[in-house]
Amino acid sequence: MNLREILYKPELTKEEIVYLLSLTDEEDINKLYERADEVRKEYCGDEVHLRGLIDFSNYCEQNCLYCGLRLDNKNLSRYRMTPDEIIETAKHIINSGIFTIVLQSGEDSYYDTDVIAYIIYSIKQIADVAITLCLGERGFNEYQTWKIAGADRYLLKHETANPKLYSIYHLHQQLNERLAHIRYLKKIGYQVGSGNIIGLPMQTIEDIADDILLCKELDLDMAAFGPFIPSPYTPYRNKKAASVDLTLKTMAVARIVLKAVHIPATTALATIDENGRIKGLKAGANVVMPDFTPSPYREKYEIYANRRCVGDDPRSCRSCLQLQIESIGRKISTSRGDSLKMKIDS
Ligand code: SF4
Repeated sequence: MNLREILYKPELTKEEIVYLLSLTDEEDINKLYERADEVRKEYCGDEVHLRGLIDFSNYCEQNCLYCGLRLDNKNLSRYRMTPDEIIETAKHIINSGIFTIVLQSGEDSYYDTDVIAYIIYSIKQIADVAITLCLGERGFNEYQTWKIAGADRYLLKHETANPKLYSIYHLHQQLNERLAHIRYLKKIGYQVGSGNIIGLPMQTIEDIADDILLCKELDLDMAAFGPFIPSPYTPYRNKKAASVDLTLKTMAVARIVLKAVHIPATTALATIDENGRIKGLKAGANVVMPDFTPSPYREKYEIYANRRCVGDDPRSCRSCLQLQIESIGRKISTSRGDSLKMKIDS
């Protein structure tokens, strides 16, 4: 195959995606990153959108094999933030000049429909910020209520497009159910994010190509590709972490295939590589999600071990990120960073 020709094709086949993900020559890989950066510039510009993250509960009713928050992990000290603590933290985020708030937790039905709606509504009274929910699979009627309360976006990863692997990793959950939730969220007007985990046990390069193609089929507004990092006290604790190269290649190919979509440089990538964030931003990413969860909670949101920046003061996060982002000639956005598709449609 001719690398240059593939990099400039408007549409890629699965075979071409597999070819790009399998590149090993350093010069070729750099050409892939450069092309992804070009596409990012064309569709997203030079602005980097910050999304302020509040991990408000580490309780989870699911048992995903790779995740430290899984129900059966009895070694994790659990916490729940009160609605007032969550709203107070949202104020800090808004005061730091960040216009998207991500409310994230394990699947925790302790927070019922009304409590979540109250939190959303209260934050929306403070300022015109976007609210992203990342609460796992909840009821379709709940999604509707939260939309009416003011939620703008929902993040629900598909994790893997391979139905067999999905049912192995998730025990009680099925891929088709997850996809039905994603499609429903889109139908009722959420800006929807999804994505995979790279390097999970048994996953192949073909599976990753299918993940990217599934993101295209779902016509997502945001797509996240984070590396697998083994977590203690989980069945996958002794498995190998994903490689930085494969993660970056996946992000770059996703940018070329998906074009007008938000792609984050994930904290997990920054955890497996000190310069992961910058590398991600140079390989197609245009979003960073700093963690504003206050202590003593943030240390306990242990999806995996040794999360990057976990010991840092969230208040210094923005200035640290600003330095990193400006050092590569990019700038922090001052907008909400809504779906790039909305711009194209209007
Ligand atoms: S991946 Fe999500 S649903 Fe699964 S155990 Fe972790 S927090 Fe719960």
